[in-house]
Amino acid sequence: MSPREARVLVVEDEARIARLLCDNLEAEGYRVMHAADGEAGLRAARDGGIDLILLDVMLPRLDGFEVCRRLRAEGNRAPVLFLTARDLPPDRVRGLQAGGDDYLVKPFHLAELLARVAALLRRAAWSAEPAGGRVRVGAGWADLVTREAESVDGAKDTLPAKEFGILQLLIEARGAIVSRSRILDRVWGGEADPTPRTVDNFVVRLRRRFEPDPENPRYILTIRGTGYRLVPADRS
Ligand code: CA
Repeated sequence: MSPREARVLVVEDEARIARLLCDNLEAEGYRVMHAADGEAGLRAARDGGIDLILLDVMLPRLDGFEVCRRLRAEGNRAPVLFLTARDLPPDRVRGLQAGGDDYLVKPFHLAELLARVAALLRRAAWSAEPAGGRVRVGAGWADLVTREAESVDGAKDTLPAKEFGILQLLIEARGAIVSRSRILDRVWGGEADPTPRTVDNFVVRLRRRFEPDPENPRYILTIRGTGYRLVPADRS
């Protein structure tokens, strides 16, 4: 799923703020639903298919903390970004204790809100994985605990140590660039004479495993002159 197709539920009772949020999220390309009180928000979230919830704290019928607590108790793991007019430490703590992922104080800057929404969705895409240590990689997955991997053609085997080491660094970087020298240092350590080409060769192997079209990689990218980065796999 492209982040921009994500479904965002806005639970906000103040019409002016709700409209501002909905309009701007829609302008960003998100699919937006609105609920004007806590109970309606809970119902909408329970209907499923929600990728992120913008949850006002002070809501009629059921406050935002309680909505979040109930959703988490039911196993709903959609990221929750709390919005509140109050900026008191106990509120922040309560929000996190209720199972919220992030917290923004009103009045907020729209650009910051949109950036946080995007960041939460990215993080969710990283963690929306099958159980255990499995992480989706391109069109397959790798298990960071067992080293097992399923490649693009459905074949399963155990990743060789070097491939696993590189992949682990890329996954840990969560989309950031990992330099060749860092890979050499961490994966090859004191071993004799690896060259930057050595890393490239192993990256080619990883692409053959996980890229639908290894010649035109979409997930394991070379950043020229720097290193590599791993793009989170689309959710299917
Ligand atoms: Ca409110």
